[in-house]
Amino acid sequence: MAVKGAVLGDIIGAQYEFARPKDLDWKNVPLLSNKWAGFTDDSVMTLAIKKALVTGEDLVKTMVTIGRKYPNSGYGGRFYKWIMGPKQEPYNSWGNGSAMRVSFVGEYYDDFDEMQRMAEATAAVTHNHPEGIKGAVVTATCIWMARHGRSKQEIYDYVLEQYPKDDYEYSIAYSLDEIRPRYEWNESCQGSVPAAMRCFYESSDYESFLRNVFSLDCDSDTFGAIAGGVAEEFYGGFGDVDADGILKKYLTEELYEILVM
Ligand SMILES: [Mg+2]
Repeated sequence: MAVKGAVLGDIIGAQYEFARPKDLDWKNVPLLSNKWAGFTDDSVMTLAIKKALVTGEDLVKTMVTIGRKYPNSGYGGRFYKWIMGPKQEPYNSWGNGSAMRVSFVGEYYDDFDEMQRMAEATAAVTHNHPEGIKGAVVTATCIWMARHGRSKQEIYDYVLEQYPKDDYEYSIAYSLDEIRPRYEWNESCQGSVPAAMRCFYESSDYESFLRNVFSLDCDSDTFGAIAGGVAEEFYGGFGDVDADGILKKYLTEELYEILVM
C-alpha cells in the first residue's frame, strides 16, 4: 500500500529536511537515528485524504479537521492559513504539497481515468495551478503504474514526457550525479516530483531510494512522501527496513489507525 511508503518516507526523510550536514555520508549513515525524524504535514495530509476517500466524508472538511489537530507539523505559510482560516478556497499553488499527499489515490483506484481525475481533485482544493495539478497527477500515476506491474523504464518514460529535459531544470532525464552539485532546496512540484522520481529510478530497493533522497540537499521528507509510495509498490515492500515498527513508533494512535484502515 503506497500510503505506507509515503508516510515512512516522510518520517525518515524529515531528519534532513532543514538540518542536512553538507558532508552527509548518505550511503552509510544509519537510516534512522537523528532526533529530527518524525511525521510531518506530508503524513497528516496524506492520511486525511485517505480517510476522506475511504469514508466518503467531504475532502476539504476532513483535511481541515485532521489538519488542525497537528498545527505544528510543518505546513507552508499559505497552507497554514488555508487550514486555519474561516473559508477554504484554492490559491493557485504550484507547491509540492499537492504531490506529497496524493499517494492513496494511486493505491486506491484501479480505473486509470478515475485515478487521474481524483488526483486532480485532491490537488485542486488548494493547488489549482497547472503545475500543482500536474505534480499530483504524475505522482499518483507513477504509483498506479508500479502497482500494475509497469517497468521502471515505462515509469521513467512517463515522467520524462511530463517533465521534458528542455523545459525543466530538474527533469528526470538528469542523473543524480548531474543534479547533486546544482540542486537547490525547492518546494515546487516541478522542482520536486521529477527529481524524487529520479531518486526512485536510480534505486534498487526502498532503502536505497531513501539514501538517494539523502544525497540531495532537498525537501527530503516530501521527496520521501512523493516517491516513497512508488518505491514501496515497485519493490513490493521495504526489504530490511522495519516499516511497521517505525510507523507504529512515530505516528499518533489516530494517524496510525487511518494508515491501517
Ligand atoms: Mg513536511
